Parts: sequence; C-alpha cells; structure tokens
Amino acid sequence: MFGLYAREARSISRMAHLRFFPQAVVGGSGAYLTGDDGRQLLDFAASWGAASLGHSHPAIREAVNRALSDQAGASYLSTANEPCVLLAEKLLSLVPERARGRVWFGHSGSDANETVARMVVAATGRSRILAFEGAYHGGTVGSMAISGHPAQQGAVKVPGLTLVPYPDSYASGSSEAAKEIVLARIEELFATEVPPEEVAAFFIEPIQSDGGMLVPPDGFFKAIETLCRRHGILLVSDEVKVGLGRTGMMHAYEHSGIEPDIIVFGKGLGGGLPISAVVGPEAIMNHAVAFSLQTVHGNPVCAAAALAVLETIESENLVENAARIGTVLRDGLEQLARRHSIIGNVRGRGLALGAELVVDRESRMPASRGSALAVYRAFELGLVLYYVGVRSNVLEFTPPLTLSEAEARKGVDILEKVLADVIAGRVNADVLAGFQGW
Ligand SMILES: *Cc1c(COP(=O)(O)O)cnc(C)c1O
Repeated sequence: MFGLYAREARSISRMAHLRFFPQAVVGGSGAYLTGDDGRQLLDFAASWGAASLGHSHPAIREAVNRALSDQAGASYLSTANEPCVLLAEKLLSLVPERARGRVWFGHSGSDANETVARMVVAATGRSRILAFEGAYHGGTVGSMAISGHPAQQGAVKVPGLTLVPYPDSYASGSSEAAKEIVLARIEELFATEVPPEEVAAFFIEPIQSDGGMLVPPDGFFKAIETLCRRHGILLVSDEVKVGLGRTGMMHAYEHSGIEPDIIVFGKGLGGGLPISAVVGPEAIMNHAVAFSLQTVHGNPVCAAAALAVLETIESENLVENAARIGTVLRDGLEQLARRHSIIGNVRGRGLALGAELVVDRESRMPASRGSALAVYRAFELGLVLYYVGVRSNVLEFTPPLTLSEAEARKGVDILEKVLADVIAGRVNADVLAGFQGW
C-alpha cells in the first residue's frame, strides 16, 4: 500500500480534508496507527478524539460483531431497536435530573447541534441563540450557523445568533480579568440589543477545544448558569470533543459545578463509529415528531459500539485513567515549557490538553508557522497530533482514554526533539506546501 497518500489524491476529493502532513494509515491498535510505510505512529489526536478507546479495542470489536451477526435493522426511524434503547437508558442514567428526559440519536456532532439549534427555537417559541466566538459546533449549514470559529468565516449565521467572547485567561493576563470582561459583555447585551426573554438557548463548550483548548475561569460557567436560570434560557453543553471521560470527569461541565438542560455527545461516543446523541428534558425533546431525521439515524451497530464505549469507560476506569495520565502528560508538557520558550502556556484538563506556541513570551504573538512545523516534524518522528485555536497556534492533545503512562512519556520525549528541531530551524518551511491545516 506504499504511496497511499498520492493515490488518494487521484481518487478522493479534498473537500473534507484538514491536512497537516502526508499521513496514510492501513491499520491501528491501541494508541498506535500503522502507516502504509509500516511505521508505528503514536496517536495523540485519536482522530480528533473520536477513537476514544484507541484503535481496535476488543470491547468495540465484540459489540460490533454481535450487533452485525443478528442485525436489528439499520435505523430507528420506523422501529424501536434494542441497542438504541439500551444506549438511551444508559445515557439517561449518566446525566443530571434536569436533563434526564429523552435521547435523540444522530451521526455526528454537527447533526446533533443543528438539531438542538432548531429544536430549542421551535420548542420554546424564542428566536435568539447565544454562543461563543471561536466555538466549533459543526460543519453542516445549521451547525455552522451557530458557531463562531474563524475557519467558518463565510458561513451564514442563524438570524437570532449573538456571539460573545470566550474567556481567554492567558490572553487576558488573568482568569479573573477574562471572566469579568465576558460577564460584563453579556450583562450589557441583555440590557440592550439581546432581551434575555427572547433567548432560547446558550450553547457552551465546557472547554473550548477547536478555539484553542481554552479552560474557563473558576466560577465562569456557574455565573452563566445563574443567568440562564434567571431568564429561562436553556443551557446546552456541547460535550462532543471533551465529554465522556476525557477531562478526568465523566462530563466536562462537571468541573464547573453546573447542570446543563441539554447535553450533546458525539466523537468519542462511538469509539470510532459515527453516532451522536442529544439528551434533554422530555417537553423539549418530544415537542414534535418527524422533526429531525436521517435514514440511518439510530443505527443498531453504531449504538452497540457506543454502549460498549460507555461500559468500557466504567469497567476499565477510564475516567480515572484520563485524570491520572493527563497529569503525567501535562507535567511533561510543563517541563518542556521550562526548557523551550516557544511554549507560552500549557492548559486543559485530563486528556484534553493544549500547548499554546508563541513567538516570544512577552508579546504572546502566536507562533502559527511554528505550530504547523511542529506537528509536521512530530509526524516525521512518529507522533500524530494537530493544532487548533483561532490563531492556529495551539498544539492539541486528545489521545485515546486508554493511553498508558509509558506512551504519555514517549510522546513527550518525541515532542522535546520536535521543539528543538523547530526552534533550531531544522524543519524546512517548504514541507508545509499543500498542508495549510486551518
Ligand atoms: C467536532 C465537534 C463538533 C462536530 O462534530 P462532527 O462529528 O465533526 O460533526 C461539534 N462540537 C464540538 C465541540 C466538536 O469538537
């Protein structure tokens, strides 16, 4: 299969590509992917967090095999199917009382967030939606319409959308300052152009991952929750990338001590298979029938995989593992930051970590090219990771939740060489031609 990357270019459209280096894989196991050249690549991206249990996890293989050997149809549109009911019951057992109503299943974070955006407006009769600048809620028309990520600048927004800044503690100099700026902005909007009684929902990312792995200041989302309750605004937590154990708690919103009304799951839920879920109050989730459906929604094979993911998170103590290995990885990154001033800030929770690269620590000027060169060099040295951030300068770490301590340390060792090579100018910028990332 050598030369797979070049063959792909002759057969597959680039429209879904978000490429950082010429990676082509033919297999994978655990935290490793197998390149078409036979190299074993340590995967610190896990396909943007989707491969939550790593690759070829036996529990998923077994669940998928079982679901396919006696297949309960292909969809839940016109029939109940057992894997979906079991998965819905399991998800309801994991959420707080106020969200414990009904579950909707989709294929992706995008169709889930799009469905929520339409649903909250239709169910409440309120026309406005609040979300954050820098937020990534999906890549379909309806999910881009409530997103604030600069990579989607041309996308049409829903008419009632208002974007507010996400608190950036590093850029603002302190978390307290970051929090106050944003809360003041929201109060001001509520007093002027955004009457809160017209707002149906506030979409939050409990950590803003694609916006730069921004961790909210203490008390920030508690204040948002208070505002939402006061004005009857539904609080929607988009847990698609950082939920289900990744942050060292089952739900990322738990770190903020809040209870959302509606919770959106995706990516890691399917452990590599396409499935998403929305969980919320019965009155909202059942406001209509035939409101948001695609033919193979509620696919029993994907649902069985998701149930296996949730059961494995519990049986293998992966929430605890994410917290423990996350600390190892974070300590390693902080040590690198002590030796390499290109790292301006290390942040995140559990195995949702980011390292912001800067040209110098005084100005905090983004090292965007440095980030692109770093992930390219990491790939050459056997480590897969990508960068995020509204200025494209935050290395993102979302490895499988099953990552071992030895694997975490190995990744940090590779990264040490990577940063040294980038800083010393040993990575030729020409390699980036054709890899514009985002
Ligand atoms: C990736 C992502 C989405 C979109 O999920 P897709 O599976 O790409 O449709 C939505 N929200 C967040 C926070 C994400 O990271």
